Amino acid sequence: MSGPLFARVALVGIGLIGSSLARGVKAEGLSSEIAIFDASPDARAAARELGLGKVEDSLAAAVTGADLVIIATPIGAYADLGPELARHLKPGAILSDVGSVKQAVVRDLGPHVPEGVHFIPGHPIAGTEHSGPRAGFAELFKGRWCILTPVPGSDTAAVERLQTFWQRIGSMVEVMEPRHHDQVLAITSHLPHLIAYTIVDTATNLEESTQSEVIKFSASGFRDFTRIAASDPTMWRDIFLNNREAVLEILGRFTEDLTALQRAIRWGEGDKLFDVFTRTREVRRGIIDAKQA
Ligand code: NAP
Repeated sequence: MSGPLFARVALVGIGLIGSSLARGVKAEGLSSEIAIFDASPDARAAARELGLGKVEDSLAAAVTGADLVIIATPIGAYADLGPELARHLKPGAILSDVGSVKQAVVRDLGPHVPEGVHFIPGHPIAGTEHSGPRAGFAELFKGRWCILTPVPGSDTAAVERLQTFWQRIGSMVEVMEPRHHDQVLAITSHLPHLIAYTIVDTATNLEESTQSEVIKFSASGFRDFTRIAASDPTMWRDIFLNNREAVLEILGRFTEDLTALQRAIRWGEGDKLFDVFTRTREVRRGIIDAKQA
């Protein structure tokens, strides 16, 4: 299927994800019109300069008349966006988002969604450690999963339309319950980020002489953590505050497993270490086979 899927798409937040979407929508001809709003005047100016769409100076001007609205701001902004969005969404429109946590989005936006508007939260599992409109690119979502988390009573036809939208952007789509999404992402994304932030912070707290060597010899493992730990502080603060329950649950399990490894090292239990490292190697092979490496 080709040709526009929506007459007017509105993107609220034109950072890495919003601007990648704008580029993807344009490249695939998914909408006749792309309306953009961002709270940051700098981001709006950059979006204008990059020609990402019609940049408006208010949320109302961007979302009015749109048949697909996608929120791509940090999750902490949702609670304030809800009431204003409600005043301008047109009946029959689809309201979606790209936030990395889903139960909190249902909690914060759900109560404001007007009758007749289809609320279908979403989360593309794609990103980089960069932020802002200049960091985006149309191929970001290609070959990546996008998870949609419809709420009870979501219209099937609207879910299918949004599914087609993401597929044409290049993603594979999976539909999931918001709670399940948050549990899965706690282990696959949120915990790894927390570990990376901790390791890099521990290294920076070392004595000055050791610190310079950490940078010098970073290729031996530390470097990959520094890339993850360079991710946007606002976005990640909001993720941990809004997926607290699932993250704390998985952190508890992780701490137990870490303690078991600590014990194996202390008691010289090489077989135990070898078994764990052999199992984890298989996981990496599975990711490569699934073309998600
Ligand atoms: P970003 O590059 O920092 O862009 C977010 C933009 O939203 C910024 O320009 C920000 O302006 C603006 N904004 C903040 N509050 C707003 C409001 N009330 N109204 C309109 N605009 C507002 O962030 P991003 O990386 O694109 O992430 C956006 C969302 O995507 C987040 O919810 C995140 O969880 C999700 N996500 C991110 C990734 C990733 O790897 N980055 C992957 C998947 C999903 P200011 O800078 O002035 O605050």
